This record gives sequence, C-alpha cells and structure tokens, in this order.
Amino acid sequence: MPFASLGLSPALVYAAGQLGFSTPTPIQSEAIPAVLQGADLLGAAQTGSGKTAAFALPLLQQLQLGATDGPRRVRALVLVPTRELAAQVGEVLRSLAQHLAQPPKVAIIFGGVSINPQMMGLRGGADIVVATPGRLLDLVEHNALRLGAVAHLVLDEADRLLDLGFAEELARVLALLPARRQNLFFSATFPADVQALADGLLKSPV
Ligand code: AMP
Repeated sequence: MPFASLGLSPALVYAAGQLGFSTPTPIQSEAIPAVLQGADLLGAAQTGSGKTAAFALPLLQQLQLGATDGPRRVRALVLVPTRELAAQVGEVLRSLAQHLAQPPKVAIIFGGVSINPQMMGLRGGADIVVATPGRLLDLVEHNALRLGAVAHLVLDEADRLLDLGFAEELARVLALLPARRQNLFFSATFPADVQALADGLLKSPV
C-alpha cells in the first residue's frame, strides 16, 4: 500500500518520497490511519522499524488542520530519552514538514548544553517540541514555554525513558498537560513499569 492511500496529504507523501520512503513499513501502515483519526496508539517498535515517521507524518497532518497565524502554542510534545534521539526526531519532523503550506516550527530541547540558545529558540513559541524531560521542565520553570495547549503527546522509547531514571520528571511533565489529548506510546520492550505507564496514559489504544 503506498503512502498516498493512508490518508496523508500530497505534500507529506512528497516529503516522505524525498527521504526515500516509497512504501510504508508495517508500523507506518497500521499507525498512520489510526493517528489521523485521533486514536491513542501503543507501538511495540524497535529502532529501524520506521516508528519515527509513523508518528511524525500523521502528527504534521493533524497540526496543519489547526494551523493559524496567531501566536504559536505548543500543540505537540514528543518526549525522548536522549539528546541524540531528540536531534534525530526533530530533524525528521523538519524534513517531512518542508513542503507544507504552513510548516510548523519544531523546537529541539535537551540537557547537557547551555539553556540560553534554547530559550532564544523558543521566542515566538513553537508548534512542536521534541524534548528530554529534565531540560523541558527547566524551560517551563523559566517561563520559556507552556504546555497547557498540548493536544498530542508522543512518548518515544518509553522503556529507555524509565531505564534512564526519568519516571519522576515524566510524571511532572504529564501533570502540566491538558487531560484531553491524543497519546502515542512507543517502546521496544514492555516490562511491568513500562506497561503500567502505558495503561495509565492510553485510552483504548490501537
Ligand atoms: P526509525 O525506526 O524511525 O528510527 O527509522 C529507521 C530508518 O528507516 C531510518 O533511517 C528511516 O529513514 C528509515 N525509514 C523509515 N521509514 C521508511 C520507509 N517507509 N521506507 C524506507 N525507509 C524508511
């Protein structure tokens, strides 16, 4: 099944093609139509499965529907365990968004580097934030961004988020989000703590 038959806009299908994605991977075929319909998603996925585009493409399409010329508010939050993954996911989102009429602004946030450039980068707001949890909370505390309008949450590599000790930060971030939102949850493994996190977050997930 080609990308075009999954319900994606021509600009996104084109961008996927530019990255060399002509045929959806299995997780993309299953996830993209469900996410476009607003469903919660539980993805059991390894790196290499194509999971990033599986959430990035339908997220970008959903954000286009609500795009406005007003102040940018964070409408999608992607939480990741490491700076490498933050950079990688952010770049995939930017590449896939290139041909959209109103490309969303993607902010990439991670710790271990100076906070000031990230604060500058958030001036004027951001539509999508890809972040590690600790630095995200630092930026919220500095009033550099607000999470009250997040309509789509992605937890990417949830098992590694817990392995790296982010459970407490994660709980603090989740408490800042509106209750009504779409939740997309990806993990390679499902030990009891990861399953409990998924159970608490997801409503009737695909
Ligand atoms: P991921 O699992 O998201 O880390 O993606 C693994 C790799 O597969 C990345 O290098 C992607 O660029 C590539 N990829 C993702 N989706 C496709 C696709 N539909 N066709 C070919 N390559 C893909």
